[in-house]
Amino acid sequence: MIIDGKKLSNQLDNSMKAEVAALRESGIEPKLVVIIVGNDPASQIYVRNKHHKAIKLGITSIIERRPQDFTQPELLTLIDQYNRDESVHGILVQLPLPKQIDESAIIRAIAIEKDVDGFSPENVGKLFNNSHDHYPVSCTPKGIMTMLAHYNIDPEGQHAVIVGDSNIVGRPMGALLLNAGATVTYTHILTKDLSSYTRTADILIVATGVAHLIKAADIKPGATVIDVGMDRDENGKLVGDVDYDHAKDVAGAITPVPGGVGPMTITSLMQQTLELAKVANNRTLETVK
Ligand code: NAD
Repeated sequence: MIIDGKKLSNQLDNSMKAEVAALRESGIEPKLVVIIVGNDPASQIYVRNKHHKAIKLGITSIIERRPQDFTQPELLTLIDQYNRDESVHGILVQLPLPKQIDESAIIRAIAIEKDVDGFSPENVGKLFNNSHDHYPVSCTPKGIMTMLAHYNIDPEGQHAVIVGDSNIVGRPMGALLLNAGATVTYTHILTKDLSSYTRTADILIVATGVAHLIKAADIKPGATVIDVGMDRDENGKLVGDVDYDHAKDVAGAITPVPGGVGPMTITSLMQQTLELAKVANNRTLETVK
């Protein structure tokens, strides 16, 4: 089975469009601010894609572009401006940032109620505590959970193996799967005999940035394989971390690259923008009462 993230993303977009229209009719204008510093080519593409998706759904999107030599105090001032702006519901600072800026200081500076990427220590803490509150989580793992649910792949009691332990993908992914009842194994660049772990996975999530790291022989027959990687092969073609052409014959379900995880990441971002807009509005109403 091919897990078609692009198709699912389009379906979810249609229902979100209707939701945005209803929100606007009731006087709420969902608004997302994306701040990009420097000229990383991949980041430029991601930001453009996010902007286009927001516009398509009727979400107001502001892109703030700043030069490579933008300073940390300048960025903190810009974030503070949008923290105070009540018309803004989500603030996203595109990572990576230039080396003169401390990413964790920037993440901490975003108001928690506008932390649309779910990277703040508070929201990460809620995720790892399996809190029952509503809180944003990292968009890529969230999109993967949405795909699994849509394709009736229930993590409960399954062995999930995560390859790659980044704060953006691997770690929150493992927490979400644990919260959903999976037994989770984290692996990373220092893991010895990686294949001995991946071959035991019922659900295998790969997020390393290493093109075709995972081969068919590394996969348990019938497993669900989710490929987060967005890599270039020797011909410059976009490929994943999984050798898809061979892996698809072994896996029970698999995401392609492109057309798998990528579109769902952006859809999750839009869903969370809407959630924050709704929460902010309820808060305002409560304050008025
Ligand atoms: P990262 O560079 O922050 O982390 C990479 C992780 O992979 C690390 O934990 C490292 O230990 C591990 N790793 C590297 N080489 C390994 C190896 N040989 N064996 C085992 N583990 C290894 O990366 P990231 O930000 O998590 O991104 C990973 C990939 O996912 C990249 O290709 C990135 O472009 C892609 N990505 C895609 C989306 C999307 O929406 N599709 C979103 C985020 C990241």
